[in-house]
Amino acid sequence: MNKLLLKNGKLVDDKGIYKNDLLIEGEKIVASKKRGSFSSLEKDSKLEFIDLQGKYLFPGIIDAHTHYSLYSRGTVSADDFYKGSIAAAAGGVTTIIDYIDFPEDGDFKRAFKERSKQAEDSIIDYSFHQVIEDFDQNISKKLEDLKEIALASIKIFTTYKKAGYMLDKELYADLFKRLKELKILPTVHAEDDALIQELEAVYKKRNLTEPAVHPAVRASLAEKLAVIELGDAALKTNIPIYIVHLSSADGNQAVKYLREKGVDIYTETAPHYLMLDNSLLKGEDSQLYFMTPPLRSSYDNQKLWEAVSRNEIQIFATDHCAFTKEQKFQSASAFDILPGIPGTETLLALMYSYGVGRNYISLEKMIEMLSVNPAKIFGLYPQKGSLQVGSDADLTIFDPDLEKKLTADNLHSAAKYSPYSNFQVKGYPVITIRRGEIIFSKKSRAEKGSGRFIPAQTSSLFS
Ligand SMILES: [Zn+2]
Repeated sequence: MNKLLLKNGKLVDDKGIYKNDLLIEGEKIVASKKRGSFSSLEKDSKLEFIDLQGKYLFPGIIDAHTHYSLYSRGTVSADDFYKGSIAAAAGGVTTIIDYIDFPEDGDFKRAFKERSKQAEDSIIDYSFHQVIEDFDQNISKKLEDLKEIALASIKIFTTYKKAGYMLDKELYADLFKRLKELKILPTVHAEDDALIQELEAVYKKRNLTEPAVHPAVRASLAEKLAVIELGDAALKTNIPIYIVHLSSADGNQAVKYLREKGVDIYTETAPHYLMLDNSLLKGEDSQLYFMTPPLRSSYDNQKLWEAVSRNEIQIFATDHCAFTKEQKFQSASAFDILPGIPGTETLLALMYSYGVGRNYISLEKMIEMLSVNPAKIFGLYPQKGSLQVGSDADLTIFDPDLEKKLTADNLHSAAKYSPYSNFQVKGYPVITIRRGEIIFSKKSRAEKGSGRFIPAQTSSLFS
């Protein structure tokens, strides 16, 4: 069994920032003690060690919202589980939570098997959220299979009715009741479809289809309306609810209103809703900044940062859905451009430089949002998201002084572009360790397929 000593690091987790040395055996952290405690072990010729020279040591970063190999409109997203996981590892990410498409017949076991087949090339660990598009007696019965598969959460859409993804609102009450029985967390893409369809008709009728109309058609009001409706339904059932990719000040206001009413509501936001604004949809390359929900105004960016500062948002995740420029430029219509951008690789570096670096959050808080909370909320804690003895040795070594200009050339996504090109960052992950193995250090060092499915326990939000 390999033995690895990580010494002279600054550890950051939910216990704070502290100077311990970590001993790893095989895949696990087996000891954590004051600096120098293991110096007698260094004579052991079988022990490898890394002198961190004061760099940070984080529990491996978790991106709780990714879409590798996503089939959409006759094409597939550019990052499959192999390429995507290399890019993730380069960015200090050791676990992702991706999605399983809805099986119409409710055969969740088969759907899991099929998705797992695609995921088995991953070099990092993974879990899934199960998409639910319909609810009847059959689905209700079969939902219990998710417990056996060991998934902690499902995802519903309040939009994309025309594409068939939307779950009818009349079904919220029964679905939530069943999820509560099973202790499965509902996560939601919240945008009111009826409002969007009306706005879409208005813009289409006038032939206004340029990308810059996307934020007007998918107005932040639509996010607010959907969030409130979901919150009310969750309150009636008394179940926790989690909103994915919250994008707007309006949306966050709705969340605050619901919390005051007693709704147990949690949110995730993505770096692009904090750092990019809709003026980018007016440029030549507007397609490269196109996703759903759309980019909002710089006012929204600011309001969401403030919400982060006030601990109103629990998780940073990316909604990573990488398409190549070629795929993005296939259309110039706001009603047709493939939505999605790459994000996992730049998640940690951006949140450190622009979140911690600009004093919106403390370093400990950032690690809570990037590792501890996703692990707890999606049932992977303390196997993941922790530097405790007994946890998986998933570790991100982070150099706070390393300065870098992000470019397509120094990033690894098969998108081969980044919406953050030319962003300057100070602080960057330098070594990524997954279950005791160095998987990324300047380049990928992991074997294809060395990542693994991590069975989830019940979400911490039910306790
Ligand atoms: Zn998504």
